[in-house]
Amino acid sequence: MRPDQASLAGDSAVTLYVHIPFCCRRCAYCGTFRVAEREPDFDPFLRAVAREFALRREESPAALARAPAAVYVGGGMPSLFDPKRLGALLAILREGAPWSAEAEVTLEVHPGSLDRDTAPALREAGFNRLHVRVQSFRNAELETLDRGYTAERAREAVLSAREAGFRAISLDLRYGIPGQTLDTWTTTLKEAIALGCEHVVCNQTAGREENLHDRLLRGHFPESALDEHLLAEYQAAARRLGEAGYEHYEVQSFARAGWASLYARAAWQRGTCHGFGPGAHSFEDGVRWRNAADLGAYLARLLEAGRQPPRERYRLSAENAAQEEIFLGLRQAAGLRWAAVARHLGTAPLAGLERKARLLSAQGFLEPIEGGVRLLPQAWFVAGSVVREMIRALEDRAA
Ligand code: SF4
Repeated sequence: MRPDQASLAGDSAVTLYVHIPFCCRRCAYCGTFRVAEREPDFDPFLRAVAREFALRREESPAALARAPAAVYVGGGMPSLFDPKRLGALLAILREGAPWSAEAEVTLEVHPGSLDRDTAPALREAGFNRLHVRVQSFRNAELETLDRGYTAERAREAVLSAREAGFRAISLDLRYGIPGQTLDTWTTTLKEAIALGCEHVVCNQTAGREENLHDRLLRGHFPESALDEHLLAEYQAAARRLGEAGYEHYEVQSFARAGWASLYARAAWQRGTCHGFGPGAHSFEDGVRWRNAADLGAYLARLLEAGRQPPRERYRLSAENAAQEEIFLGLRQAAGLRWAAVARHLGTAPLAGLERKARLLSAQGFLEPIEGGVRLLPQAWFVAGSVVREMIRALEDRAA
């Protein structure tokens, strides 16, 4: 059993992220920065990350002298690389502060690259948590998504992780897939529960206009019927996973007791995060920055010029920081604390915010908690709209 996660996440936590952009698929819904290569050359990438990490330690010595609570290697498709190379990547990050045995070290995995050979090798490499991007346990839906594996293969991937001794297995599932019905979605949920995974993330695909998948889906439903369909799927997930003992701890995340994602929670609590690799995001001391999503520029700047990769940095204003507190607080079951807003803007805006919260509570969206407010379960599906209302109340005060 892990120690109390709350003691690891939060303001004081440092997390590390590496974005490995290589990927050999072209999923219709993908919005991630990726570079399509079947056999990418990992060695220059590894050398560039090592260089970036060394430069960052000079730039942020205090943060990177602290032991990370969580490390996350995502992509792209990081599991394209053999476990030894991924172990070499972790060794680079370990050159910072030594990690405790409780640190959560996660690898994002494509089910097609997880089997009885790779799973033990990934444990050996130093990972203790896998986020398996299953999406669906229905073959027709996997074909629609062009994922390149079958439901049977996805099951085997999860089972091989368990056999290899992974104690923390997280599944990425997707609802709103064109052709998916409430019944087929429920089948996928039941499979995830039967496999005994500790953590489940339910993503909704619809919503981005430019997304091919979204256009396909909207072709299947008139607008209002689509919303009802997505709501029914979302509610089915909350009900099924809740009945099976999962805590719905964030809008789209569910965990068995003690297995919430430390990495994600630290991000939602605005902890310090250092990201490496092209397209990676970072946050420290009120400054957010993102490395340019450009692999060529990333490699050239680090390996040829020995300099930081191109990146966009911006310091959050007090107003931006308070907006983030509202957005991130309300998406979690723990809710928004007024003190979090006051930390950035003082107590002046609280009267307007509390007034708006009382209105939204009377309408059945929010409920008061000690020193703050949180979404009612029936309002989680429309969390975005509630957040917008609350942020508007903050802006009205500034107008
Ligand atoms: S496997 Fe992941 S990164 Fe690659 S195209 Fe699909 S969603 Fe995007």
